[in-house]
Amino acid sequence: EITISGVHKWYGHYRALNDINLSIAPREKVVICGPSGSGKSTLIRCVNRLEAHEQGRIIVGGIELGADERKVDAVRREVGMVFQQFNLFPHLTVLENCALAPMWVKKMPRKQATEIAMHYLNRVRIPEQANKYPGQLSGGQQQRVAIARALCMNPKIMLFDEPTSALDPEMVKEVLDTMVALASEGMTMVCVTHEMGFARQVADRVIFMDRGRIVEEGAPDEFFARPKTKRTSQFLSQLL
Ligand code: ATP
Ligand code: MG
Repeated sequence: EITISGVHKWYGHYRALNDINLSIAPREKVVICGPSGSGKSTLIRCVNRLEAHEQGRIIVGGIELGADERKVDAVRREVGMVFQQFNLFPHLTVLENCALAPMWVKKMPRKQATEIAMHYLNRVRIPEQANKYPGQLSGGQQQRVAIARALCMNPKIMLFDEPTSALDPEMVKEVLDTMVALASEGMTMVCVTHEMGFARQVADRVIFMDRGRIVEEGAPDEFFARPKTKRTSQFLSQLL
């Protein structure tokens, strides 16, 4: 469903992605890890064209990303994204944050968009927060709103960029539990995270990036028990 082939990306003279080749099947769960600056965010941001790649091909759900804005919009309708900083609108309630995109992008009537928003707030287990503002919620609750908001667009693929790394430790689990539930429902997921417990539990494949390249990939059992490169084992030993 996602095919990335021969992709390079430069920021000025700096090559942030170097010959990335990666295919992700429908319903597959992929965890991406690697040191700071290795290109993890750049890679997943290229999948919904928050960043543009310069070379190679990225095809999402049969649509090739390029300069054509209509294709970019079509891909973004199928792809939800959750960021480290929740990026909620502070002046809108939780419910309004969730209902906004269905109303504006899908031209859905307010009543229907609100029903869908409530449905997903129930799914992430915070329906009682619907009429509060983001600033009145804990970090873990805000991140669950961000997940619900993405789900309101009924995406086929969800991208997560370190969704728990801005959270206090006691709030990490509630967000990971939400992600585990989503995974068990068959969502295609690409998660940048260093939560290796989550990776073991959920990932079909773990990918290790370093300096803009995919250095190693494998099933979690294999990846954690027998890392193939020195760089990977160094990295994993630092996580504990
Ligand atoms: P982290 O774990 O810190 O989030 P990352 O693996 O997500 O790191 P990226 O954010 O993808 O790394 O960045 C890859 C490289 O590209 C880094 O060296 C970074 O400084 C550089 N970079 C990222 N965004 C930009 C930008 N907008 N302009 C210039 N350089 C950038
Ligand atoms: Mg990053």
